[in-house]
Amino acid sequence: MISAAESGTRSRPVVELVALLVIGCGVIALARWGHAGASADGGILRLQGSAFGTTWHVTVAGAPAGEREQLQAALAAELERLDAVFSVWRDDSELARLNAHPANEPLTISQELMAVLVLAARIHRGSAGAFDPSVGPLVRLWGFGPDAPAPAPAPPSQDAVAAVRARVGFDLLRLDPGTCTVVKERPDLELGLGAIAKGHAVDALSELLVRRGKASHIVEIGGEVRARGHRAPGRPWRVGIQTPRAGSAVEARIALPLRDGAVATSGDYRNFRELAGQRVSHIIDPTTGAPVHHRTASVSVLASSCAAADGWATALNVLGAQRGLTVAEREGLAALFIVRRSDGGFDEQATTGFATVLEETR
Ligand code: AMP
Ligand code: MG
Repeated sequence: MISAAESGTRSRPVVELVALLVIGCGVIALARWGHAGASADGGILRLQGSAFGTTWHVTVAGAPAGEREQLQAALAAELERLDAVFSVWRDDSELARLNAHPANEPLTISQELMAVLVLAARIHRGSAGAFDPSVGPLVRLWGFGPDAPAPAPAPPSQDAVAAVRARVGFDLLRLDPGTCTVVKERPDLELGLGAIAKGHAVDALSELLVRRGKASHIVEIGGEVRARGHRAPGRPWRVGIQTPRAGSAVEARIALPLRDGAVATSGDYRNFRELAGQRVSHIIDPTTGAPVHHRTASVSVLASSCAAADGWATALNVLGAQRGLTVAEREGLAALFIVRRSDGGFDEQATTGFATVLEETR
């Protein structure tokens, strides 16, 4: 769980943070967000809205209040454009068209979708298949998604899981970046990029701001964050990693200064269901076809691109701290695992890269 914060706000009382809880990934924005779409004070412009079924927040340093409406409209238009590429909740998106495409017939896709699929394939390989954007049918089978029945039914039978697993596997998609074409090996292969597209969208909004001369900003969508520049000379942006507890209490566990970089978190403490008295995560382990079942409550990854941070956070969350730490070290990732103890507390396990960043902040 990540909270986007501005330097100097660490001493704000927790009670104020609770009031600022944003639904979705449970992100807290430590800045003073207004109720309208945007607010500004002292050269700091704050903009917010909803997209991808969650909320977004952007803070820009050194922007005159007069630019607010223009920037708000440009960011909203960019998010709408991204939705038309990556959404699986509309039939006319590029990804929905890929999902509806027949097997064994090459489909030309945009460079942007190809770039995200290539990154997803890299993370799929690097995580030995733990990250798999084709798990959507399994996610639904386990009762997640907007059309899931409530209350949740009993867990699916082994036969039902096996039947759905036959159509799951990112290797069933062949990518040819040279010609920007893809081939599905099964007609019912279904891709969902919910574990990486938010991070890509954060990168895209950040690029948009740079193109408009707004070099110092922090962008957050549903908990995935990217920062550039600084809030003010000598005052970096700060991002808080929250204690992964369900419920409304918000507790910033670590406040990281973020100059030019991204941080993303994958956790099971907000999006889970109770199935036959058991807590069930919405993250599926493709090797078992079942929700992950380990003590890792959240994984945060620092990276230069938010798409990579987002994808890897999910991949490492599938693997859990035990296996994930080895993979993260091998991949040279800066990752923090927050692991539940049996007494209700939490332990932190960091890779060498993340420990170095923590050292610098303490
Ligand atoms: P995140 O919050 O970024 O960890 O991503 C959550 C999304 O990832 C949800 O939309 C899930 O449907 C999807 N998901 C679940 N399991 C996996 C997996 N093993 N690989 C990739 N995406 C997954
Ligand atoms: Mg993710």
